[in-house]
Amino acid sequence: MERSKQKQMNQNENEADSAINGKFDGRVKIPGWSAGGAAGTPSTAPSSSVMESWREERTRSLEDNEMSLPSIAAAYTTILRGLGEDPQRQGLLKTPWRAATAMQFFTKGYQEKIIDVLNDAIFDEDHDEMVIVKDIDMFSMCEHHLVPIFGRVHIGYLPNKRVLGLSKLARIVEIYSRRLQVQERLTKQIAVAITEALQPAGVGVVIEATHMCMVMRGVQKMNSKTVTSTMLGVFREDPKTRDEFLTLIRS
Ligand SMILES: [Zn+2]
Repeated sequence: MERSKQKQMNQNENEADSAINGKFDGRVKIPGWSAGGAAGTPSTAPSSSVMESWREERTRSLEDNEMSLPSIAAAYTTILRGLGEDPQRQGLLKTPWRAATAMQFFTKGYQEKIIDVLNDAIFDEDHDEMVIVKDIDMFSMCEHHLVPIFGRVHIGYLPNKRVLGLSKLARIVEIYSRRLQVQERLTKQIAVAITEALQPAGVGVVIEATHMCMVMRGVQKMNSKTVTSTMLGVFREDPKTRDEFLTLIRS
């Protein structure tokens, strides 16, 4: 069942060039978030910290990358020396530059804007069944220790006359995860972006992730996973909808 829905949605996406009927203007309001929102929708507004609007979010340009590469590399040289290593030994000669370039890649989400992903990818559609994309691979960086967080993201939403090209859900995950993060904020940011873009009846986001800062240090639990979820709209208010989502992502 789920597969057929996905197929249908993919077709919609393929028609993107000829049928752009939901061009995103960046000015949608979130139901229940402000005065004049959908009647009877209780406020499920996330904390203001995640509402730092992605429409005005700061981005890092490729020029910025080029400009900052030498100073990041120099900082890595300092780190190597501080660790008791000799940055001049053969194996480490290029390490600061490699590490700096890698770190810029790990945080390339700062170079992209959510709005660029959404433009031309929102379609008017009378589809009112739950849309789910599960097992989206996610690689992020813990902002407290600068080590990887990796895992899987599951997203579901109940459309309200608008749908998003399916591959764009994974792109939203990519943009927010390739930044310095905490898992809770990442989960909310994904849910909020989908809510703002589509004004769906509800959104659910679940992330299961391994934090290297937990696995390699601290409690050192090899197989511990952290699970976070954000439920908005009917996913929060209606246990049946929420259960359907949770069952489908586990099947
Ligand atoms: Zn950490």
